[in-house]
Amino acid sequence: MSDETPICSAKGCRAPAVWVLAWNNPKIHTPERRKTWLACEEHREHLSQFLGVRGFLKDVVKFADYQDPEGP
Ligand SMILES: [Zn+2]
Repeated sequence: MSDETPICSAKGCRAPAVWVLAWNNPKIHTPERRKTWLACEEHREHLSQFLGVRGFLKDVVKFADYQDPEGP
């Protein structure tokens, strides 16, 4: 039986996701496109820095508050 708990996107991390990082790579995505990574409390800063230094990071929202603009 698998539970529905989403897991942090950081490599090797199995912690439940608390944050959603919405990002976009302008070289490969149209401007309105959003990719998402999930992050636990521990990895939110690390992952958002990774995206931030590349200029990809658009938004960081609580997982509970996140709504995919393209729907489920
Ligand atoms: Zn993590």
